[in-house]
Amino acid sequence: MVVGGGLAGMEAATVCAQRGHTVTLYEKTGELGGQWNIACRQEHKQLFAAVTRRLRQEMDDAGVTVVLDTEVTTALVEKHHPDTVIIATGATPANLPVRGANRKNVVQANDVIRGAAPAGDRVVVIGGRHVGMEVAIALARQGKDVSLITRRKVGRDVRKATRLALLDMLMEQKVRLYPYFEVVEIRDGGVMAVNEGTLFFLKADTVVLGVGATPEKRLMNMLRPVVAKLHAIGDCVEPKDALAAISQGAEVGRIV
Ligand SMILES: Cc1cc2nc3c(=O)[nH]c(=O)nc-3n(C[C@H](O)[C@H](O)[C@H](O)COP(=O)(O)OP(=O)(O)OC[C@H]3O[C@@H](n4cnc5c(N)ncnc54)[C@H](O)[C@@H]3O)c2cc1C
Repeated sequence: MVVGGGLAGMEAATVCAQRGHTVTLYEKTGELGGQWNIACRQEHKQLFAAVTRRLRQEMDDAGVTVVLDTEVTTALVEKHHPDTVIIATGATPANLPVRGANRKNVVQANDVIRGAAPAGDRVVVIGGRHVGMEVAIALARQGKDVSLITRRKVGRDVRKATRLALLDMLMEQKVRLYPYFEVVEIRDGGVMAVNEGTLFFLKADTVVLGVGATPEKRLMNMLRPVVAKLHAIGDCVEPKDALAAISQGAEVGRIV
């Protein structure tokens, strides 16, 4: 049983099936691809969808049974009693542990990218890694006045070539950058942040969070005591990237 139809789960299911196992992959939503589907919604990443199509084709060719719209629970695992369970439940956007983070003017970058959350004319993006930089560029290209604020350097954890390219685009789009600013509170009209002991207020109609992802470990923790052969792969172990998710899927497929 493979739980989760993101990149990690799809690759694991294929390799297991190619090696002769009988594999069923469960996905709780109505489509395969997981977070990659959100990545593909970005202007410069639409070709990325080919990865999902290819993984789906390989699963079909290998004979994997795919069950959509089904959330795996401990009860479902006990009912089917599989020999091995591979957990690939991915990650969800992290929240910011500051006062005001649940206000109506605060939205997640993922929701902005997939068109589920509109942003006002003046935007503060919190988060200086991949997603924060990209969503800031996209919003500025729509003509919005965008500031990006992050408590470390802009482009932390982003590969050098990509970081330089994204920094170029941020500057080209005139996004104001506030590195080493620590957000202390979000208010209706903007963001309070501290830099070198001084308190600043950045005005915003909408505050967009791109502050990382929280691994979805609940099912894994519940199943650990009851399933002997349990593996976990991809972002549910530690949020990384597509290459890590697919290669972990391939690796686990070879050891099951
Ligand atoms: C906006 C954005 C842009 C990105 N851009 C890039 C990029 O340019 N390059 C790059 O390499 N990476 C990028 N990433 C990261 C990359 O998409 C992820 O690291 C990767 O897709 C993780 O795959 P995964 O299979 O581990 O998890 P996920 O994609 O999170 O998939 C997990 C799946 O499990 C399902 N699920 C969860 N619980 C259950 C359950 N109990 N039962 C059944 N199903 C369940 C979920 O619905 C989901 O479909 C981006 C991510 C985002 C959000």
